[in-house]
Amino acid sequence: MTSSKALLVICDGMGDRVEREFGDETPLGVAKTPNFDRLASSGSVGLMDPIGPGIRPGSDYATTALLGYDPRVCYTGRGGLEAAGAGMTLKPGDVAFRCNFSTVDDKLTVIDRRAGRIEHGTSEIAEAVRKIRPKGVKGLEVDFQATIAHRGVLVLKARGLSRMVSDVDPHETGVKILRSEPLDDSTSAKRTAAAVNDFVMQSFKILKNHPVNIKRVQEGKRPANIILPRGAGTLPPFTPLRELYGLNVACIAAVALVKGVSRVAGAELVPVEGATGGLDTNYDGKAYAALKALGNHDLVILHVKATDVASHDGDFKKKASVIEKIDMAVGKILPSLDAASTYVIVTADHSTPISVRDHSGNPVPLLINGPGVPKSGVSKFSENAASRGNLGRLHGLDLMPIIADYLDKAKKLGF
Ligand SMILES: [Zn+2]
Repeated sequence: MTSSKALLVICDGMGDRVEREFGDETPLGVAKTPNFDRLASSGSVGLMDPIGPGIRPGSDYATTALLGYDPRVCYTGRGGLEAAGAGMTLKPGDVAFRCNFSTVDDKLTVIDRRAGRIEHGTSEIAEAVRKIRPKGVKGLEVDFQATIAHRGVLVLKARGLSRMVSDVDPHETGVKILRSEPLDDSTSAKRTAAAVNDFVMQSFKILKNHPVNIKRVQEGKRPANIILPRGAGTLPPFTPLRELYGLNVACIAAVALVKGVSRVAGAELVPVEGATGGLDTNYDGKAYAALKALGNHDLVILHVKATDVASHDGDFKKKASVIEKIDMAVGKILPSLDAASTYVIVTADHSTPISVRDHSGNPVPLLINGPGVPKSGVSKFSENAASRGNLGRLHGLDLMPIIADYLDKAKKLGF
């Protein structure tokens, strides 16, 4: 008997509310999705609350739950997940921050949080920043990596640090940068906040006259003259999926956060050329990479961010067209999958309704297709169909145990 495999397609923010203007349908409801429809009809469909009914999750919370970890118990901030997604090695106790390369004036007023959307020279800047040794914490080491465009990740490594510190990034322009403050009374939080503030001031001192910035100013561009950390976090205490279920997992995603959650869960990250995390991503390339990864993994997570991008833009038709592109890309690899041993699951990490332009607490549609799965007989994969679906209504935390069970990897409780 060949062992079963599963492909989990996560369309970021795909869930939506029905719109009267579009015949009481959602973007998924109006999109032409022949492949998803076929999978839904010959499989099971239902609704899934990523965390719970009416709970609005951030992407970090939602992805954590979908991979089977209760974020209400094991969430340790965004920074740790971002660092893991950037491929950095984090030990328990290390504190990581998401960072922006930003532009400030001499009074530390933020001119541009994205340093003129800097594209080049960030690795040289990162190299200079890595040499900073903030004062006041014995043995403190600094790791820093530039990721995409104006983004980077800072990791502070020492004993006795805490993630309970506030952001330096004020999240707006025209105001002064903030001081990181301890969020509790612990010495470790006070010490960490002081180290972060000193790091930021040293970054300003070094970067003001960095060759990359001198050149940028000469070219009339905004200099990346300061690093602004936010979202402190540590490595979350996930037990890898291999240990929990014996699952050998691969993840195909462009977004650092999703890569980070998956990596901490023990997934192998599969890079795909042209996977951008944007509307222009390499849909087909990602689908074919998933097909290839299924050759030597039990579970392949295929995450596409574009649906969420169109949702935040509030563009109904664009969202529907992104869903059609994902359907088409998945449709191209379906004939190559062994239907007798492969499960295909399609869902979203959370809803991002067009009318809201932000994440909402609405449930997401879910389809599960594969051997032994009851047939829903629905003609279209949509929120409307899913609300009457044969799977009923699940929680995000239910998904991984259900997948593991179909793959005959679930542990039996009791005798
Ligand atoms: Zn979003």
